[in-house]
Amino acid sequence: MRTAVVVGAGMAGLATAGGLARGGWQVVLLERGERITAPPTALVLWPNGRRALESIDPEGGWSAIAAPLPDGGVRRPDGQWLVAPRGARAGSGPAAVHLEDLYDALVAGLGDNVQVRTGFGVTTIRTGRRQRPAVSDGRTEIEADLIVAADGIDSTVRRALAPESAAVGSGFAAWQAVIPSYRLPELPPEHAAGGETLGAGYRFVSIPLGERAAGRGGVYWVVTAAGAPRPEPPATQLALLRRWFAEWHAPVGELLAATHADDLVPQEVRELRPLPRSYGFPSGPGGVVLLGDAAHAMPHHLGQGACLAFEDAATLRSLVAGAAPGAGLTAAIEEYGRLRRPRTTSVVRQTRRMSAVVQARGRLALRARDAALSHMRPRLLGAPAPEWTPPE
Ligand SMILES: Cc1cc2nc3c(=O)[nH]c(=O)nc-3n(C[C@H](O)[C@H](O)[C@H](O)COP(=O)(O)OP(=O)(O)OC[C@H]3O[C@@H](n4cnc5c(N)ncnc54)[C@H](O)[C@@H]3O)c2cc1C
Repeated sequence: MRTAVVVGAGMAGLATAGGLARGGWQVVLLERGERITAPPTALVLWPNGRRALESIDPEGGWSAIAAPLPDGGVRRPDGQWLVAPRGARAGSGPAAVHLEDLYDALVAGLGDNVQVRTGFGVTTIRTGRRQRPAVSDGRTEIEADLIVAADGIDSTVRRALAPESAAVGSGFAAWQAVIPSYRLPELPPEHAAGGETLGAGYRFVSIPLGERAAGRGGVYWVVTAAGAPRPEPPATQLALLRRWFAEWHAPVGELLAATHADDLVPQEVRELRPLPRSYGFPSGPGGVVLLGDAAHAMPHHLGQGACLAFEDAATLRSLVAGAAPGAGLTAAIEEYGRLRRPRTTSVVRQTRRMSAVVQARGRLALRARDAALSHMRPRLLGAPAPEWTPPE
């Protein structure tokens, strides 16, 4: 049986391991943490990400855990519309999902052909023209036909194979939180749909997660601010957020007031610069691929990082489906890089344009931004990346 090692059990690694196993591969999934743990936040699944998940696991029950995302429009901090909402979107539009629900579904989809080894932090990777690739934690070496690096932005595997690419700060800090349903303030209907507000160097997005029997409900919000992350403890950071947003239109203040310090997930926004030159590295009869944030970490302005990781996983699964170790698998690994590199480069380019929108400060820059936005179609978390369909 063909063998694969997937390094990293984040969203990218879990989706890839399950997808390969359903395609007949024997998979070892390595996670350096002692447990597979979802961050206590949520994300937007744009149609490309949903299609990718459905192609990786048609039985995954994705619509049961993902709440359709209403179009909440874009406002200024004083409440004036920059882009008015257009009402409900079609059923195949974007959806919001709690990460604990998403991880549960991905773990449930791993199946019997995936052996999970937690507490295994990969420290070295071995490749060569004549040998199968292998990873090691310094004690145990594991060899396979295919190694998938899904070990996130600080990927050990990428550092060894694509040292030209480095993780750097993007000039933004972000805070995320989910307020559970039972703690939600009473929101008037015009605010219940969530939405996006753009200030000078600040952005606030709120997204309802719905009240679903099959999923965790509540409201997810994400704040982005131009500048460095804050060093203070979470309670002080929350107090700071409440002060920054004190004058913003409802329900921004109400949502921040209902947030507890231990709901808060603060982080520095980082990205890879430049992207790795290649995502596929043949080695002997097989090789190594980079996938997810290990390949293309980018700021979250378009909400595409995980969606692209699911595209990666769906593409890889399809390319290696009929490939035997040797020329077939090597060609599939090279083709993976040829398909995914331009696609992710184009989304990174769009993300950079959105960075400029979020960073805009000063009267003239804000006026230019507002004028440009008022001509755009309604959108939340930026425009979804261009259409993508899973490979056959
Ligand atoms: C504020 C914010 C909002 C976002 N919103 C969205 C959104 O709405 N939609 C969207 O699509 N994306 C969004 N993203 C992006 C998304 O969160 C990431 O792209 C996604 O989490 C990347 O998943 P990953 O599995 O590639 O990496 P990670 O989640 O970082 O997982 C990597 C895993 O590998 C493990 N690991 C690391 N090193 C090793 C090692 N050496 N050996 C073994 N295991 C290792 C780690 O422990 C971890 O479990 C957002 C990001 C941010 C910061």
